[in-house]
Amino acid sequence: PAPPDTFEVRDLTVVYGRSVRALHGVSLEVPAKGIVALLGANGAGKSTLLRAVSGTLPMHGGAVESGSITFGGEQLTGRSPADVVAAGVVQVPEGRRVFSGLSVEDNLRTGRLGLRGQSRASARETAEQVYALFPVLAERRRQAAGLLSGGEQQMLAMGRALMARPRLLLLDEPSLGLAPQVTERIAGIVRRIHEEGTAVLVVEQNASLALELADRACVLDVGRVRLAGPAEELSRSDEVRRLYLGEH
Ligand code: ATP
Repeated sequence: PAPPDTFEVRDLTVVYGRSVRALHGVSLEVPAKGIVALLGANGAGKSTLLRAVSGTLPMHGGAVESGSITFGGEQLTGRSPADVVAAGVVQVPEGRRVFSGLSVEDNLRTGRLGLRGQSRASARETAEQVYALFPVLAERRRQAAGLLSGGEQQMLAMGRALMARPRLLLLDEPSLGLAPQVTERIAGIVRRIHEEGTAVLVVEQNASLALELADRACVLDVGRVRLAGPAEELSRSDEVRRLYLGEH
């Protein structure tokens, strides 16, 4: 049996509608407290994999056809988004999607909605931990989220996910649309979250960033795993350098 908190995707096949098969027998693993990058070009199936994990496939007209997703042995396949969060797996959505009319504070509160058996005191304590990780959010706690910069909104989206106290954090394109300097800051924070004991699965188009962050990586190509291994090894692979790091 897998050690506790191992996240495992086994032979996952996903279809949209009746005939669009977006994943074909994909397998990948995130060890407890590990950090894994998922790479691939547009349309490779990265978002589809995250949707399958977070329980949001039905909202996009998709379904798991076969295979399984488990976390610490618990079945996540076909579960509702709320059940997946309750199991300790929380996604930071692509494009951040904060509630722009709500204050920073209230955005963070929404990260606790639907969680069972958590006291107000522990909510406050978790919020203080989030503010410690993102001091800029503490400074702006009463400001509307819509007034934050892109990088700050990414931090808020990450902070909101952390409010649910995940044991596995799913990050969808954290660097999307951000300036290189801001991306570096976000990467530093992802590293800290990981060092504090949270496993991370990060989906990135920015392969050099992802390979720098992750212990292991997995490259998807038109719905199949094309390469997988230690990030350091992949960053030395000719194929990865040529196709994903823009080298010739
Ligand atoms: P991107 O970086 O562009 O988001 P991706 O690697 O996340 O790419 P997916 O969005 O998962 O790729 O798409 C994988 C395949 O599934 C593509 O062929 C895409 O056209 C198809 N697909 C994605 N969403 C849907 C949907 N809601 N209905 C039908 N087909 C879809």
